[in-house]
Amino acid sequence: MSDTIDAEALRLRYLEERDKRLRDDGNEQYIEPTGAFAHYLDDPYVEPVEREPFTDDVTVAFIGGGFAGLVTGARLKQAGIDDVRIIEKGGDFGGTWYWNRYPGAMCDTAAMIYMPLLEETGHMPSEKYTKAPELLAHCQRIGRHFGLYDNAALSTEVTEVTWDDHASRWIIRTNRGDDMRARFLAMGTGPLHRPKLPGIDGIESFAGHSFHTSRWDYAYTGGSPAGDLMTGLADKRVGIIGTGATSVQCIPHLAAAAGELHVFQRTPSSIDIRNNAEIDAEWFATLQPGWQAEWLANFTTLQTGGFADQDLVMDGWTDISQRIRDKTIAKGDFTPQGMLAAYHDSDDEKMTEIRARVDEIVTDRATAESLKPWYRQLCKRPCFHDEYLQSFNKPSVHLVDTDGKGVERIDEAGVWVDGKHYELDLLIYASGFEVGTDYARRSGFDAIGRDGIALSQKWEDGMMSLHGTHVHGFPNMFIVGPSQAANLISNVPHNLVERGQTLAKVISHALAVGADQVEPTAEAEAAWVELLEAGSRGFGNNPDCTPGYYNNEGKLATEANMRSSLGFPDGPMPYFNYIDDWRNSGSFEGLEFRRHRDL
Ligand code: NDP
Repeated sequence: MSDTIDAEALRLRYLEERDKRLRDDGNEQYIEPTGAFAHYLDDPYVEPVEREPFTDDVTVAFIGGGFAGLVTGARLKQAGIDDVRIIEKGGDFGGTWYWNRYPGAMCDTAAMIYMPLLEETGHMPSEKYTKAPELLAHCQRIGRHFGLYDNAALSTEVTEVTWDDHASRWIIRTNRGDDMRARFLAMGTGPLHRPKLPGIDGIESFAGHSFHTSRWDYAYTGGSPAGDLMTGLADKRVGIIGTGATSVQCIPHLAAAAGELHVFQRTPSSIDIRNNAEIDAEWFATLQPGWQAEWLANFTTLQTGGFADQDLVMDGWTDISQRIRDKTIAKGDFTPQGMLAAYHDSDDEKMTEIRARVDEIVTDRATAESLKPWYRQLCKRPCFHDEYLQSFNKPSVHLVDTDGKGVERIDEAGVWVDGKHYELDLLIYASGFEVGTDYARRSGFDAIGRDGIALSQKWEDGMMSLHGTHVHGFPNMFIVGPSQAANLISNVPHNLVERGQTLAKVISHALAVGADQVEPTAEAEAAWVELLEAGSRGFGNNPDCTPGYYNNEGKLATEANMRSSLGFPDGPMPYFNYIDDWRNSGSFEGLEFRRHRDL
């Protein structure tokens, strides 16, 4: 490690900064957008289209029209299962990319691996890191390409999901009066789906305009998701609460447009270099069929500490993990303690570089000091941006450093911090999404399985599943997400594409053998969770970290919380290889395929 870094001093500073931010209320510090706050969830983008309620019976219903639903729908269609209905709360497909249209929204994971089904849909990403409108358009492209719009239920919120064991059907009710049946039900409602608001005293009293970043009000701000100047803000005093990955991306646009911009910061994000570039069409045309699977495997291997001949993606994620890996090799100590020490050294170097970058870019010394993150890079979502720090050099942009305490109070006219009042016309909540809360609360519905048992009841002591997908007591139901499987956080769609393939195989098999019910045995489910629990504890939850959703807001996670973040003990690539063998074996070990006459 560099001689100039005093690791011990850093450790103490990190703990000191963490302690400033620890709070007894943990996740409870946030408020749900319900009751007087429910309007923060309204869809600002599309008016629901009138339609007759669905009362039909489909082969597969999928709740969620984001990447999970789209890639699964695509794989089902490819497998010849045509009767698929995606049910989506938003007015179109897109999920995250439907809702998050804030200016500057883009994806931190390289488009070549983040955008699913590029080969199948024939799309070439325009840039290494694509902007949100292109991602939304790609979601729509997948929808069109695979005919998923034909049978979709958009602007439709599921309210009840109940298993009818006698008929072997899921009964699905919605806020549009639908009362439909589905032979198979899949759910991909997204891990960061439900916006949350900061529980700041007086939040309800603000009389100016306000919205959450996931419901951007362009009618008020002017501009567009493509980044056109928000002319409506020219004479406005704008405040933004939160400085996470979302805020980092929209602040440069607010800084360019607002009369005055006040950024209320509790904890600064780490901002590494973005280095975006256009994708060269000639080079893209040279890629051989099967390239995307190869790129996915290459990224996942390198990002999780493995070796490959070359780094195809070459981004901040693979950089982090290769630094740690190379440091471990250089030290030659492959014990868990040795690897941890290598991680600490490499992180100290990285974070020192990140703090030095703040000094290089931000001209005002006090502002630069406030923008420096004092924690390990993976304690919070690492950010990558080449215009964020520069925004603070504009005279109209004011960083309000709350020194870890957060905004004190909100009143009719604005925001209070440390006894000082900031008058605002517009207050934007960049306060993130619910993560550590109950599954049913985040989804907005509970699935009621066999014998009337709710999924929330079944998971009272934590998520239980086979492969993160199948749940005993919930026949013909499939979950599509990263948990209890690969748990690959740096490229979520990779988890989903794989899961879609698995579902297509399992459902095709059930249809081929005439099975009315598919369900994991209780033993297989228990054995899977036991296997996961015997391995590493999954993602996050480091109590030394500054609080945030990565570590349950600094509260030691309960056993139940821990279970939902478990991943395959050997890591994501071994999981993907394992599940590929499992689904291709034809025996689907752990699942029971039953016919009515056997029931
Ligand atoms: P986050 O949860 O990351 O950030 C919420 C912000 O609100 C934090 O800065 C938090 O401070 C702040 N905050 C909360 N309460 C208060 C308060 N009382 N006073 C002042 N500040 C407060 O949400 P984001 O929407 O930024 O990001 C969520 C996730 O979405 C990311 O982590 C990432 O996974 C994903 N994302 C991905 C992108 C991509 O490129 N792929 C882009 C954008 C988002 P504190 O840190 O102190 O808690």
